[in-house]
This record gives sequence, C-alpha cells and structure tokens, in this order.
Amino acid sequence: IADGAFELHYQPVVDLGSNEIAGCEALLRWNHPVRGMISPAEFIPVAEETGLICQIGDWVLDTACAEATHWPPGIKLAVNVSPVQFRSHAFSLKVANALATSGLSANRLELEITEAVLIRDDEAALAMLQHLRAIGVRIALDDFGTGYSSLSYLQRFPFDKIKIDRCFVNDMAGAEGSSPIVQAVINIANARNMTTTAEGVETEQQREMLLSLGCTEMQGYLFSPARPVAEIRRLLARENRIAAA
Ligand code: C2E
Ligand code: MG
Ligand code: MG
Repeated sequence: IADGAFELHYQPVVDLGSNEIAGCEALLRWNHPVRGMISPAEFIPVAEETGLICQIGDWVLDTACAEATHWPPGIKLAVNVSPVQFRSHAFSLKVANALATSGLSANRLELEITEAVLIRDDEAALAMLQHLRAIGVRIALDDFGTGYSSLSYLQRFPFDKIKIDRCFVNDMAGAEGSSPIVQAVINIANARNMTTTAEGVETEQQREMLLSLGCTEMQGYLFSPARPVAEIRRLLARENRIAAA
C-alpha cells in the first residue's frame, strides 16, 4: 500500500441482447517489483487474515469510482467487496464518501459480495445491505453456485443481480452438462426481478447457449480479459463512437 504497488484493471461486462458493453468490473492487481503481477486470489486471503483488506478495499473503492467518472455516462462500475470490509459499520459511509468525492452517481455503482458475507451475522449483513440500497447502489451476489449457496439468501436479501460462477459456464455443453442448473438460476433471478451475469464466458458456443437460456449479461475472455486503465478507456471511447454513429 505504501509503495503504491496496487493497480486496478477493468473487465468489460457485455449485454447479451445488444452486444454492447454495459459496465466494467474492477479487478485488483499487485504489480510486485520482483515477482511481477500477483493474482488477487493469492494475496486477498492474506490481506483478509491480517485485516489489511480494509485499507486496500478503501483504496479500490476510491480509485475505481474516480476512474469511472472518465467513462461514458451509461457505463456502470462493479467493485468486489470482501466480507471483512462488509462487517465494518463504517462501510456504507465509505461507499457514500467514495461517491461524493468522485462525483460518480450511485446508480452507476454495483457492489459484488459473496455469500460468505451472509453466513455469519445475517442480521448485521441485512442491515448493511439496506443501508447500501438506501444510498442507491446495486448489490450483486458473486460466484453464485459455489460454496453453500442457500436458496434462502435469495428469499431474504435484496440482491439486484446474480453472477453465475464460471465453473457452471465452463461445463454447460454436453448431455450431462450444467445447463439445467444455469437455466434454473436464471429462472429464479427473473422471477425475483434480478438480472444475471455469466462469468468466464470463453467460447461462442457458451455465449449462444446463455443467450437462449435468457441470461442478461456475460463477462469473460471471449469478449475481453481485464485490461489496464488506458486500454479500457480507449475501448469504451471506441464503443461510444460506434454507438453514436
Ligand atoms: P471474481 O470477482 O469472481 O472475478 C472474476 C475472475 O475471473 C477474475 O480473476 C477474472 O480475471 C477472471 N476471469 C474473467 N473472465 C475469465 C474467463 O473467461 N476465463 C477465466 N478462466 N477467468 C476469467 P482475478 O482478477 O484473478 O480475481 C480473482 C478474484 O479475486 C475475484 O473473483 C474476486 O473475488 C477477487 N478480487 C479481485 N479484485 C478484488 C478487490 O478489489 N477486492 C476484493 N475484496 N476482492 C477482489
Ligand atoms: Mg467479482
Ligand atoms: Mg465471480
């Protein structure tokens, strides 16, 4: 943190119906002077154990909100939030502060939480979700289908979006594939006025299946991996010009 070695990359999220970029997800990278780029999967668990995730998470929120103000106004921003951050009472204030300081409107920000947020202290988590809703940000349930994935979460918590984990997307094709599970998740989401984003879409065949199953958005290497700030700005500006033409 002190060395300023963290950076954020951004992965486009694409609307399956229109094929246009709907938003981008901020994904953290540690650019280590000796070891090179280190994946968040390696260092976030350590940061969570030591509590440093709160400082890192504050930086992510502030930096990503400021970056999104440089994008076309229709493009949304998704930020991952650790359960450790979520447990702090000040979290909703930090979100409000990041929005106020950057000038980003609340309806462009989506926070991605995992079910780990909901397992321990349901009541506190529900109260926090309601505070965040009151600010006007949207909440997505990330990595759905991994872990315990209790359906009661969907009943009790006001999510706006379910992100279908890439292990299901990977495994959709074929007779014994996961497409009935993906279909079931999409049906539940539709019935509850939630949208769905499929993660880890890598092939045209997966894209077509997801479209026919009624999934709302996709994200994955088929369209683009996470890219550094300058590249994502160029990509968004180009899309914006095509849309305007
Ligand atoms: P996630 O939020 O589920 O992010 C999706 C991960 O899948 C990202 O890995 C992304 O680069 C990768 N991915 C995207 N498309 C594809 C694809 O088509 N194929 C494959 N194989 N992978 C794809 P990444 O960037 O390594 O991040 C891993 C996890 O680290 C994230 O999973 C998220 O849980 C966590 N993370 C990332 N940034 C942050 C952050 O700022 N704060 C917190 N608390 N967690 C973060
Ligand atoms: Mg995520
Ligand atoms: Mg995920």
